[in-house]
Amino acid sequence: MPQLAYVNGRIQPLAQASLHVEDRGTQFGDAIYEVCAVLNGRILDWQPHLVRLRRNLGELGITLGVADGPLTLQARRLIERNGHTECIIYMQISRGTAKRDHAFPSDAPANLVMTVRRFDFAQRIKQLATGIAVITQPDNRWGRVDIKTTGLLANVLAKQAAKEAGAFEAWLVSGETVREGSSTNAWIVKDGRIITHPTGTAILPGIARDSLIRLAQGAQLMVEERPFTLAEAMHADEAFLSSTTAPILPVVRIDGQAVGSGTPGPVTARLAELTWNEVARQTGWRA
Ligand code: PMP
Repeated sequence: MPQLAYVNGRIQPLAQASLHVEDRGTQFGDAIYEVCAVLNGRILDWQPHLVRLRRNLGELGITLGVADGPLTLQARRLIERNGHTECIIYMQISRGTAKRDHAFPSDAPANLVMTVRRFDFAQRIKQLATGIAVITQPDNRWGRVDIKTTGLLANVLAKQAAKEAGAFEAWLVSGETVREGSSTNAWIVKDGRIITHPTGTAILPGIARDSLIRLAQGAQLMVEERPFTLAEAMHADEAFLSSTTAPILPVVRIDGQAVGSGTPGPVTARLAELTWNEVARQTGWRA
């Protein structure tokens, strides 16, 4: 079955799907995006993703002429037409196509594109047993990384550095503070307390992060939303990361140094159990 993409109201073969060369997403990174997980054919945490998408549009003053209802239907239709039950859906909205000029165009409608890719979530469950390694990189990003824009060059370079070092992720460090990963939120555990950077303008408010906080609190685990330093992370009992495509993964090495025992810890394991139970509750999916 050929892969299908959605471009401004039309579903078409991915190979032929395109935007104009003067799309502002291409020229300025003047675009926002969302990535949602689909398990058992159902979109996980759809409502929070929609809320974040609308907030991001509002922050940038981009007007999308598609309401939540039709957007939801179109997203579901694209998933169904692609025929994958385990996949991710990528949605991107740019300010539109216009003659290149930094200031906003007055009459360009936003461009909405969506793509769907098969995704193996079961691999994330296998990775719980081994954990993954991260390296650190300087946080070179702009001051509003809470807005999920396609301007991801600093994230791209950090992720490439991680890949070249044989690591799964790069943790972005500003001064002494660990902000988050290049495409994931960062967490440590110390003396039973679960610590992650607070939301604000310095991190992307992850949907998986939010879900983890609620699940942890519901299970009477202690969560502290506060900045933590790289030194704290190096001396933590456990560490982990979270994102839509990696809802929770134990971090067992930072810059080559073992975290705690160097193996996935019990608090992370408990959170993983809560997380995957929540996935099953919402979607019916089990590995
Ligand atoms: N931080 C950054 C920089 C990201 O790109 C992502 C992934 N979008 C996340 C955190 C995790 O966010 P989410 O849980 O919504 O996938």
